[in-house]
Parts: sequence; structure tokens; C-alpha cells
Amino acid sequence: MNDAHGEVSPPRQAGPSAGAAQAGAAQAGAAQAGAAQASVDAPATSLALCGGTVVTSLDPVRVVQADVVIAGGRIAAIGEAPPGVPRRDCSQTLVLPGNVCAHHHLYSALSRGMPYRLAPPRNFLEILQRVWWRLDRALGQTAVRTSALVAGLDALRAGTTTVIDHHASPNFIDGSLDVIADALAELGLRSVLCYEVTDRDGASRAEAGVAENRRFLSRKRRLARGMMGAHASFTLSGETLAACVDAAAADSVGIHIHVAEDGADQYDAKASYGVGVVERLGAAGVLGEAALLAHCVHVGEPEIAAIAASGAAVAHNARSNMNNRVGYSPLTRAGSAPLGSDGSPVPTPRAARVAFGTDGIGGDMITESQLAYFRAVEAGAATSPAWSLERLAEGARIAGRSFGEPLLGQITPGAPADLTVAGYGPPTPLSEANLAGHWVFGLSAQHVRDVIVAGELVIADGRSTRVDETKIAEEAAREAVRLWARLDEIPPHPFTPKGRPVS
Ligand SMILES: [Zn+2]
Repeated sequence: MNDAHGEVSPPRQAGPSAGAAQAGAAQAGAAQAGAAQASVDAPATSLALCGGTVVTSLDPVRVVQADVVIAGGRIAAIGEAPPGVPRRDCSQTLVLPGNVCAHHHLYSALSRGMPYRLAPPRNFLEILQRVWWRLDRALGQTAVRTSALVAGLDALRAGTTTVIDHHASPNFIDGSLDVIADALAELGLRSVLCYEVTDRDGASRAEAGVAENRRFLSRKRRLARGMMGAHASFTLSGETLAACVDAAAADSVGIHIHVAEDGADQYDAKASYGVGVVERLGAAGVLGEAALLAHCVHVGEPEIAAIAASGAAVAHNARSNMNNRVGYSPLTRAGSAPLGSDGSPVPTPRAARVAFGTDGIGGDMITESQLAYFRAVEAGAATSPAWSLERLAEGARIAGRSFGEPLLGQITPGAPADLTVAGYGPPTPLSEANLAGHWVFGLSAQHVRDVIVAGELVIADGRSTRVDETKIAEEAAREAVRLWARLDEIPPHPFTPKGRPVS
């Protein structure tokens, strides 16, 4: 059942009226402003999660034993659930803030297990030319929708309640973001979407990409927001980059762009413009507090300082960087205050805001945060598992900015009710002081039992409450075969950046 914006009406729960629920919430100390706002932007459901160990914040870690009362899409109260509110037993569980994936490519979901018949790629550029820039050209409307459904479900079932996506489908640009938003709305997943503008497929597609972002930004949706998407400096002309900056300014949003993922981006910027990538993007007006920069692997100290000073957020994609052998992002070191010889933190002018993304390798942020931690320890960038929880909290702040919800990612009265209930029975004592250790060394997406987005139970006992998961999987398997056949007919992409070839 779709409304004018393609949103699926959420199921109504049995229970007291919204008015009664809000009155009960007020009794328990609800934030009145949050409850009032909720009445216009969320379903009027109420629910109490009872008896769990509640992690109300990841940065700093806060843990309490309490019931969580949800009303009108928001956290109404933390405490004892008032009578009359439908209750869900959460004893022996951890109630956690929903995770945010700060950089995803939902369109890559059907590539899992995809056959590869060309010569093996020798570097990152050849991975793009021979895999991803062939896959994106094979995507039509059905594949885009199916990819969003399977990848969105994968994220939700892992306890990820918001996905910040970066989309490409050069032969299906117009309306592609609506297709993704409609699919995610069916699942009940929150998202921040954009279309990656690029010149690698010609000027008309670059213009269509800008137009698709602008069109999507003009639409109002309950669970989706937009950013301005741009691929990367090395596939963007000066004119197209300027068009992206203008469009972002016109809609008061930030630009979501890959930055120095590989050395090729830097070689091209220096050969074409005589400056590094970050300097080029800064001069063009890309940087700023609303910007989201993915990767930032090949950046030097002045660039790290410029990114940090601009307030731009950075999406660190540890697994993807390892898989593509592009290197380790030094931004993750800047994100944690380094320790001096006496063990005290060294003051830094301003630390970069670093969150985690998967770059398309699924939507499981628990696993991503664990592997990112191990890689950071290996690189000398992290000394405590709390490092990972701080990065996850940053992801929620980035998403919260897009939604005008500064409390997103916290379980506190007035915050959007985006939560995960994990059936994690700790084998050792669990407290505020050691939650990060339990998270990094013990927690798993396998523990995710329930997921709540904007107050609605969208995953219950490990299954979607909204869609037929078996049917989606069967349709995806059929569409994957068709997609792989189309892809077989597409040759490697000829686009090559300027500058020194990457070996
Ligand atoms: Zn990416």
C-alpha cells in the first residue's frame, strides 16, 4: 500500500491510542518536544522494551538496566514502563542504538559470487574498469530495486538501521533514487541516498546524474534523505564538479564523494590541476561540515589537517581497503588523540570526524567495526575497543545531520527510536567499563533479535515483519543470473585517469 511518495504504510499495533501512549510516556518523563514532533512524522505506535541491559550511548558508553518506552516513533522514556503500553520481553538481551553504515553501495548486492572471466585486475583502477564500471552499466530498474531489497534486508538483519548510500547505474539514472528509496521504505530501513555524478560515461550522463540528485532532493519522504553524490576527483571535470557544488548549495546538503581511495586519484589531480585531491576539492567548495568523504587513504599531513579543519566527515572502509589493497587511511590515526611519551593525549588542532562504511561489502556494522578495530590495532591507530564504538557513534551523528535529528544513535528521551535488541548473554560480567570489549570480541549480527526503526518493529525474532524474505531471495537469485549475463557482454571501461600509471 503506497502513498503519494511511494512509502509503505506501517502496520498498526494493537494497544492504546497515541494520545494514551504519550500521556503514559509523559508520566514516565518523556521529552515533550520530541513527542510533539513525532506526531507529525512517525507512526503513532507505542511499545515498551522491558528488562534489557540498555546501552543508551556508544560515545561515551552508557549502560543502564531499564525499560525503554517508545511512542510516536521516538524514545519516550528510559525507566519503568507505564501500564497500558504493549510490552516486549527483552530480559537477557542488550538493547543497543541502531548502527549506521556511513558508506554503502547497495547496487553491488547482486555481485556476490559473480563469475569473473577477464584477466585478473592488477591494481585498483583495473578493479574499477573490469568489475564495478561494468556492473554499474549492466544495472536496470529491476536490478537496482532487487539490489536495494536484498542489501537493505541484509543491513537491517545485522542491526543496521540507517544506510548512507552512494549509487551508480549509468544506463538507468532518472528515477533510480526513488526506486531505491521505495525498496528501502518497504523494508522500513532509514537511508541517506545520492547518485554518484561522474564524467566517465559522458557529459549527458553527468548532467543526468546532477539532475537525479536534485530531483530526489526535492521530494519529501519519511525515512529517506538525500545528499549530492559525486564519484571521485579523477572522473570529474571542473565544470561537473562545480555543478555538483552548486546543486549541493542550492539544496543545503553536503557532497558524498570518494577521496584519494587510491593513488590514481592523487596522480590525476596533480597532472590535471597541479594540486592534490583535497586541495582541489577544497578550492571547489566541496569540503565543509556537511561533506562526507569516503576512504581518504592517500592523504598527507596537510590534507588531513585541511579535512579536519573543514569539519568534513570521513567514511573509513576497512574491509574494502584491505580487499582492494589500496592502503590504510591515516585519518583513523588523526581521529584518536595520539598519546605522548607520558601517556597523556597530545592536543590536536581538531580531530577528523571518522565513521565506518562497508563500501558495499554487506551492511553488517558489527563485523565491520570489529575488523576495522583489528586493522587499526595492527596499524597502530587504535589502542582500545572503544575506538570502534566512537566511530559508530560518529556514523549516527552524520546520519542525524541529514535528518535534523542530533539525538539519532542515542537511546534517550526525544531521540528517534532506532534500536537493536541483541540476544547476547555475556559469559563474563558486562558493564559500562567493558562494553566495548564485549562488542569487539563477542557480539555478532547473529545475536540481533529485533530491530526497530522510527519506532516500528521491522525485524522481530530475526525476521522481517514487512516483507517475504524467501520471495526476495528467490527473485534476487533470478535477477543475479540475468545481471551476470548482461555483464558478460560489457567490455572493460576505457576511462583512464591522467598522471602516473598505478602499478
Ligand atoms: Zn565507495
